[in-house]
Amino acid sequence: MAKASSMTDAQWEQQNTPLHPDEARAKGLCWQCGDKGALYSAFGGQRIKVECKGTGEPAKVKKP
Ligand SMILES: [Zn+2]
Repeated sequence: MAKASSMTDAQWEQQNTPLHPDEARAKGLCWQCGDKGALYSAFGGQRIKVECKGTGEPAKVKKP
């Protein structure tokens, strides 16, 4: 993994699972993080990594 300081917000968020929630569920993985164990978000240069607890809360999906 590249250093956080050298990553763009988009690159930071790309650390999230590329799997669609339905695909992740079909594979028996956590639908939120794809069993990566963490969720990544970025807001204006502030990068946040949150431990995924697999609560099943609806994922916030940003549509481009
Ligand atoms: Zn998870």
